[in-house]
Amino acid sequence: MTETRMEGLAGLIGRMKEYLLQKKEEGETDIYLSPEGRTAMEKVLRKARGVRTLRELEEIMRDCHKCPLGAGRINLVFGEGSERADIVFIGEAPGAEEDKQGRPFVGRAGQLLTNMIKKMGYTREDVYIGNILKCRPPGNRDPLPEEMEQCFPYLAKQLEIIKPKVIVTLGKHASHALLGLKTPITKLRGNLGNFRGIPVMPTFHTAYLLRNPNKKWDVWEDMQKVLKIVGRSPK
Ligand code: SF4
Repeated sequence: MTETRMEGLAGLIGRMKEYLLQKKEEGETDIYLSPEGRTAMEKVLRKARGVRTLRELEEIMRDCHKCPLGAGRINLVFGEGSERADIVFIGEAPGAEEDKQGRPFVGRAGQLLTNMIKKMGYTREDVYIGNILKCRPPGNRDPLPEEMEQCFPYLAKQLEIIKPKVIVTLGKHASHALLGLKTPITKLRGNLGNFRGIPVMPTFHTAYLLRNPNKKWDVWEDMQKVLKIVGRSPK
């Protein structure tokens, strides 16, 4: 290869690196999506182009069967709370009770989340609560990457509509999906990231807190930072 071509190639790599770094800083974290994930994202965004409200979005995805989980659900768990919420809490997927009721975080882990929200000076109706996946994985297994890719565009649209001041990701799956990282949750928690310019606070999932109650203080410490972002102090 000639020296000039080598210089040209080095320049191109440098510009690509700059572009990716800039995208990361701007919060374009979904650049980790595979080609199939990107196609799914584009399809949903095209379909949801005119959608302005959560109700409209829920309407267009009510019969979704983009991934195999659609066939096994009792109810699609869209999410619930205020369309103008300052804080959005995101978990990974509905469990058995959520599937039965069609509502997010209603089991024991949900009760713990509700208590934490109250302790922060809010009600469930003041904030927004949802999941990466809208349908329950069988046997409450972990979400598969391809399921998350298929479902993620819906969450991205929900966040675009709500425009929260901060997103709290509960557990590793939600944190990894929103931040586009694979860092263990023990290292991620408490360190603010961002998704398309919205601050993201990764913390432990409340189901994990049921098994490890001593970690509640870590989560409470993270919530202090969240309250600071929205300009409130705990009651
Ligand atoms: S999990 Fe998401 S992508 Fe899969 S069927 Fe349910 S709504 Fe559709």
